[in-house]
Amino acid sequence: MACRICSGRLHPFADFGRQPLSDAFVIPGDPGEEFFFHLAVGLCVACSTVQLLEEVPRERMFHEGYPYLSSGSSVMREHFQSLAKRLLTTELTGPDPFVVELGCNDGTMLSVVADAGVRHLGVEPSGGVADVAAAKGVRVRKDFFEAGTAAGILAADGPADVVYAANTLCHIPYLDSIMEGVDTLLRPGGVFVFEDPYLGDIVERASFDQIYDEHFYFFSATSVSGLARRHGFELVDVERLPVHGGEVRYTLARRGARTPAPAVAELLAAEEAAALAEPATLHRFAARVADTRERLVTLLTGLREQGARVYGYGATAKSATVLNYCGIGPELVSFVCDTTPAKQGRLTPGSHIPVRDPEAFADPYPDYALLLAWNHAEEIMAKETEFARAGGTWIRYVPEVHLVRA
Ligand SMILES: [Zn+2]
Repeated sequence: MACRICSGRLHPFADFGRQPLSDAFVIPGDPGEEFFFHLAVGLCVACSTVQLLEEVPRERMFHEGYPYLSSGSSVMREHFQSLAKRLLTTELTGPDPFVVELGCNDGTMLSVVADAGVRHLGVEPSGGVADVAAAKGVRVRKDFFEAGTAAGILAADGPADVVYAANTLCHIPYLDSIMEGVDTLLRPGGVFVFEDPYLGDIVERASFDQIYDEHFYFFSATSVSGLARRHGFELVDVERLPVHGGEVRYTLARRGARTPAPAVAELLAAEEAAALAEPATLHRFAARVADTRERLVTLLTGLREQGARVYGYGATAKSATVLNYCGIGPELVSFVCDTTPAKQGRLTPGSHIPVRDPEAFADPYPDYALLLAWNHAEEIMAKETEFARAGGTWIRYVPEVHLVRA
């Protein structure tokens, strides 16, 4: 097995078995065949990048019906709006600046840029969410970004001051083409800013459900710094972000164009001290994950024997991994509630648990709720105080299985 970036040897360390597409919700009674793939991760011993061993074709994941909306969480809305304001005051200050966002989703970030009257373009292959962005006044090109796309944008709009991507780069196996495209599109002094789930947080919290079909790469400062170097760039800033279970925002500039911030050397040193890119560390992570599965299944089986009612909260993409890896079906969790209309009335992929609208959660409240959307825990717990008042208990499984009574 070879690394998708550098062709180095891949060292497999965790295997989640046969998994469905995380967003392929099933119509009840529909005998249509579900697509499954083998979900396993490995470490490239040459470039330190953690990656999936099997690649799912991109058209199967990012299509007209892609259901995730960035604006669905108020925390994420504020996160992207504040980033847009920061770019407008620090990077987009020259004459007639231009910013391109890869995977702009529903335009949560770019709509702030559009409102400020600054030139922009969102590149988004998922047609449904791209339409939502366009309705907000965001200029969108419905396409996958790669080297050829970049040349077309450069010819039509000229060079970009900033190329930005949130929770997008880790989705894309063909990173060389992306880096070539960014190199084509970016003005000499411009920056490429991207943020993705951070390998350091995943390993520290044993948050194994960050691993699913769409997340092909799990970046660290070490691996991104090498990727940048191979393409004539340099990692000049890093910022730890609390969103989505722990992310890092990386800033790349052309080599020598900017002085790297002290945070870069600090994070590289912390990763080295934690032996983050060492097989032994990742094998310990895999052992913790197996332990979580054991404990979670034991807990849910015990609750079923007691006759307790257990619902799931949040039919997130990451929940596909935990439900299928642990073999949790409707006999252990009666249904999962979710705010996304496109998921309601359907069954969770692979595990076939019914998905209902959030009102079902309170009608009546369950004894226990499995918090599948744990990355939005604070927002959810603040909203569901009545559940706690009714005597309900949250079941969490990151960083380990534990019960939370409010
Ligand atoms: Zn590699």
